[in-house]
Amino acid sequence: MAELENAIYEALSTVIDPEIRRPITDLDMVESVIIDPDSLVTVSLLLTVAGCPMQHAIQRDIVAAVSQVAGVNGVEVNIGAMNDEQRAALRRKLRPDEKEIPFTKPDSPTRVFLVASGKGGVGKSSVTLNLAIALAAKGKRVGLLDADIYGHSIPQMLGVSDSVPTTVDGMIMPVATRGISVISIGMMKNSPDQVIAWRGPILDRALQQFLADVYWGELDFLLIDLPPGTGDVALSLGHKLPNAEVIVVTTPQQAAADVAERAGTMAAMLEQKVIGVVENMSFFDTDCPHCGQSHRVELFGAGGGTTVAAALSARLEYEVPLLAEIPFTPIVAQAGDRGIPVVSLDASEPVSQSFAGLADRLVAR
Ligand code: ADP
Ligand code: MG
Repeated sequence: MAELENAIYEALSTVIDPEIRRPITDLDMVESVIIDPDSLVTVSLLLTVAGCPMQHAIQRDIVAAVSQVAGVNGVEVNIGAMNDEQRAALRRKLRPDEKEIPFTKPDSPTRVFLVASGKGGVGKSSVTLNLAIALAAKGKRVGLLDADIYGHSIPQMLGVSDSVPTTVDGMIMPVATRGISVISIGMMKNSPDQVIAWRGPILDRALQQFLADVYWGELDFLLIDLPPGTGDVALSLGHKLPNAEVIVVTTPQQAAADVAERAGTMAAMLEQKVIGVVENMSFFDTDCPHCGQSHRVELFGAGGGTTVAAALSARLEYEVPLLAEIPFTPIVAQAGDRGIPVVSLDASEPVSQSFAGLADRLVAR
């Protein structure tokens, strides 16, 4: 019996909590395992909060894992919830040094990217989101923080606008979806149409919470979608995350290019390294109905990305490369509207491949 019980615990240790991304056995979520004389197994599971949206996934994984164990004739899962004391113990276990920003510690394994643009509508959020998923597809642990106080569009683009983050003893659990962990400033509101005046101290506290009160776990990358232009959010995050690196998103258009350059200058003021420029909506490849060949249409002009990269390199006195040119592809907008990022929808699309290429470049650096 003891042997069977060990084998069952072994199997349970392969079940990962999707929000916390650690085995449920490490998280003291398995309250008991009872094996009856007919080798029917009942696993009692303690959720971090009652009605946790992830409960069905965990339940399914438990049944799948324990059914595999030789000698088990059936599996049942009883679902309960932790009490306050158990939640507090879990919080202490996960994050003993409460209220610190983990990403600024010298031994932090996480690379933080601030995704900036000179103005809105250049596809900053689309780039941030698809890049995040492309990095996750390469096996990286990725967090996505939507810090765009004016246009927090990430939840909608991911189809999780109704998700409310779970809280465990004051610790906020990011929403787990499509292989990434997501928190948006929009999730801090009581209702979607509530308007918050994000003034200095309130904003600063919210950003501090995002970084210190959210349980991000061990991340390889944290991507932050900044509001367009330069402003309080960039300044505040700049001070909180001195090791962050900046990615500037622009379109090929010269006007957009000018403002993107300003964002880069801002980064320089904050002493954050600008690691490169992404030109979005670069070109449009279309199959010609007349000659049957594919033509490249430069919808929004050409050369914005190269110009911004060159201007930034001259100004900052180090090489700021053009990291990627992302083609204009109508499916990006359609996919975003449906809540399924294009990279998840169809990895074989050329636009998805250019996001994968961008992810490769960033991983390699
Ligand atoms: P921002 O965050 O800079 O304001 P968004 O990511 O919200 O920009 O993009 C603005 C609009 O452009 C959205 O409707 C989005 O779907 C669309 N879009 C972004 N990138 C592309 C692209 N490469 N091809 C086609 N449409 C795009
Ligand atoms: Mg946006």
